[in-house]
Amino acid sequence: MHKVTEIIKEGVWKGEVPEMVNPPVNNGSTVLFSSYEELALAQKGAFPGFTYGTDRLPPQRAFEEALGRLQGAHTVRAFPSGISAIINALMAFTKSGDHILMCENVYAPTRRFCHRILSRYNIQVSYYRGDGEGVEDLIRDNTTVLYLESPGSNTMELQDLPAMAALAKKRGLVSIIDNTWGTPLYLRPFDLGIDVSIQSVTKYIAGHSDIIMGTISVNERLSEELDLYYHSMELYASPQDCYLALRGLKTLAVRLKHHEQAALDVAKWLGTRDEVKDIFHPALKEHPQHEYWKKCFTGSAGLFSFTFNKEYSQEQLGAFIDSLKLFGIGYSWGGFKSLISAGRYKRMEPSLCNGVMVIRLNIGLEDTEDLIEDLKSGFQFLAE
Ligand SMILES: *Cc1c(COP(=O)(O)O)cnc(C)c1O
Repeated sequence: MHKVTEIIKEGVWKGEVPEMVNPPVNNGSTVLFSSYEELALAQKGAFPGFTYGTDRLPPQRAFEEALGRLQGAHTVRAFPSGISAIINALMAFTKSGDHILMCENVYAPTRRFCHRILSRYNIQVSYYRGDGEGVEDLIRDNTTVLYLESPGSNTMELQDLPAMAALAKKRGLVSIIDNTWGTPLYLRPFDLGIDVSIQSVTKYIAGHSDIIMGTISVNERLSEELDLYYHSMELYASPQDCYLALRGLKTLAVRLKHHEQAALDVAKWLGTRDEVKDIFHPALKEHPQHEYWKKCFTGSAGLFSFTFNKEYSQEQLGAFIDSLKLFGIGYSWGGFKSLISAGRYKRMEPSLCNGVMVIRLNIGLEDTEDLIEDLKSGFQFLAE
């Protein structure tokens, strides 16, 4: 046999696999069957083992199972990103002619997908207030999905989640929540009667800003539907990324505790500053829907926003943000590095932040005193 043939024929590990504290990472496309009989079973869709690289390889199944157990979910499926999980949840549980009710403070790319793509498939979307006010009046005969995000993106309004879940149940709607902020540890959507929970794993679960991934988790009632959808779409998540996500899951609780306390400390310090008007942190009493947080959440994440007491010029705002040495300027959150972003958002009146400049902070794992010092020096640039 030629050497080149030999190296291609060999190099398949057939020996014993050692038991390690972390699972092995299986990569790739082809899974080898041990006989024609197995192949024939696979052709009929009756082979019980793995058949192909899209068949949710071991690291993906290990991650999905761990996350499912943590959340009390019946079925979990991993996706290449959080937004991909959201998009696929909206597609999995709707059909042409349906109407979706969505909160107005939803993650912006979610709204963009509805506007640009779902509309092409004759699926209508309308928006309700971020605090859930008036949502029942917007239900139509063809409404099938009630989409929740609490707290909502950037402006952090909260909803009365048990009431929203009960409303969905009463009116026969599938309730879906983007639970990225609550994480599987601080909010338990299935205990509240919500049908579908989405995580951007990119954020706290991965925790190190080194992967992009998302998950859809469902209760028992929707399990078969999700499984069939996922399989038909031939979706899967990268084995490497699933490995990292599973690794992140193991340290989520300790990291989150630090993020939580640090964000509370920074938010409280901001509350002592003359430059600051409103602080949108769900766990602070001053948050307009603080009661909703108290009712369901067992903790708070490291992401919150605030507004200023006056309109600063773009130059002043730029000088403040650019001066910060520890806060990176960038999107995403949930990682070890503190980040800052700023923007204006359209919100239905009455609102504390419609069109107002909102500053969002992601509090990372740095020492809190250093972060406060950084902001303190930065604020000097607002005065000048
Ligand atoms: C970041 C984010 C997403 C999307 O996650 P990706 O993994 O970056 O695609 C979804 N929802 C919320 C609330 C987010 O902040």
